[in-house]
Amino acid sequence: MKINNSLKSGKVAIVGAGCVGSSAAYAMMMDGIVSEIVLIDKNKKKAEGHALDLMHGMQFAKSINIEAGDSFELVKNAEIVVLCAGIAQQSGQTRAELLKKNVEIFKSIIPKIVQNNKDCILLVVTNPLDVLTYITHKLSGFDSCRVFGTGTVLDTSRLRYLIGSEFKISPKDITAYILGEHGDSQFVWWSHANIAGIPVLDLCPVLGCSTKNPEEFFEQIHNKVKSAVYEVIEKKGATYYAIALVIAKIVRAILLDQSRVFTVSSYLKNYNGIKDVCLSVPTVVRNNGICNPFNVTLNEKEKEAFGLSVKKIQNGIEDAKKL
Ligand code: NAD
Repeated sequence: MKINNSLKSGKVAIVGAGCVGSSAAYAMMMDGIVSEIVLIDKNKKKAEGHALDLMHGMQFAKSINIEAGDSFELVKNAEIVVLCAGIAQQSGQTRAELLKKNVEIFKSIIPKIVQNNKDCILLVVTNPLDVLTYITHKLSGFDSCRVFGTGTVLDTSRLRYLIGSEFKISPKDITAYILGEHGDSQFVWWSHANIAGIPVLDLCPVLGCSTKNPEEFFEQIHNKVKSAVYEVIEKKGATYYAIALVIAKIVRAILLDQSRVFTVSSYLKNYNGIKDVCLSVPTVVRNNGICNPFNVTLNEKEKEAFGLSVKKIQNGIEDAKKL
């Protein structure tokens, strides 16, 4: 396949310069792919402060343009607009509890973005991720190829880290995915999890799982992935470094037209009979966005978990529509 390395504007706008937005800006600056970053926040001073802090490190990174402010005119000509604005999860709070406040914020910011830029890709990060990706798709009126969320890419990264730690193998060489909701109903696609093509299930006795029973091992790993967000929030108040790296990798895949496969959350018009919902399945990300998420083969247990995720997100979407 021909990989097109040509950049267009290389400009990325980040709406919401909080912990996630500012860390994403830092990760992108260090990655060296973007040519310009703009930070937009209703708290103009905070956005400007982060911009200055980043600019002061320019000597040690690739020189790029950095701007900040509270005006949505700053999104003009951006190839990608990353949406990190909203309230963040507090200790013990679920992502769904954020719904009301963050839907209100998205209702106010999406029209302002579209007014200033009708050609960008919208990358949603704010929670509840799948519901807000749906809302963003509907409010923007953009083709579904150009609206998607970071989905379960972060959860998948946590999963690979945990399997890798257990087996003493680099997370880079583990092929395993979390599908469904970026939330508590997510599930591991264990039937297709493998290392070097060998099912993880078969590797359990060879590499030595911490438990004798592989089913128990799988459950323990998945529980750790699901509780990761709560653990980090309880210890330091917010999660932002890992998601910042996720954002930078997705941005890189778009700008460099890399055709990378990520479990982004996207609008499924009709996916094996599942209609009108956003959730995560493996999907190719390239310069013009995403299209045609892969059809995944699930075993009976996974089909049930997938159905539960669909139901939960659809309920969230219904709640959001009432607001
Ligand atoms: P934060 O509170 O540090 O930052 C949010 C920023 O949004 C603030 O600076 C705030 O001023 C700004 N904002 C709010 N309303 C705005 C508006 N109308 N216009 C412009 N800016 C506005 O929060 P955070 O830790 O950066 O988290 C941001 C979001 O990302 C949360 O919803 C959090 O749950 C989510 N998150 C998602 C993932 C993921 O995997 N998708 C991971 C971590 C965090």
